[in-house]
Amino acid sequence: MANEPRFPKIEIYREVCISCGACEQSCPTDVIRIGSDQFPFAAYAEDCQACFLCQWDCPVGAIKISVHKWFDERIEKGSGIGKE
Ligand code: SF4
Ligand code: SF4
Repeated sequence: MANEPRFPKIEIYREVCISCGACEQSCPTDVIRIGSDQFPFAAYAEDCQACFLCQWDCPVGAIKISVHKWFDERIEKGSGIGKE
């Protein structure tokens, strides 16, 4: 578990994406960028705040954000995340 990346997982489904750019516009931390091939990519994945805005704003469901297993486990164990 110590070597797992501690930021959300960002999955982009190119076969579904219509290159509208909405996800890039939505992201408050500039994680998502549109590449020269017109497809989005996670330029700064470590800055993702798991706000889900890109996922919600994508008109075709081409982005999926998920938190890593370690985060789910900490929530299940009642570590205090989200209780401050
Ligand atoms: S979940 Fe939020 S912070 Fe993370 S890539 Fe999407 S819009 Fe950006
Ligand atoms: S919002 Fe969805 S369809 Fe538009 S560029 Fe981003 S991933 Fe592609």
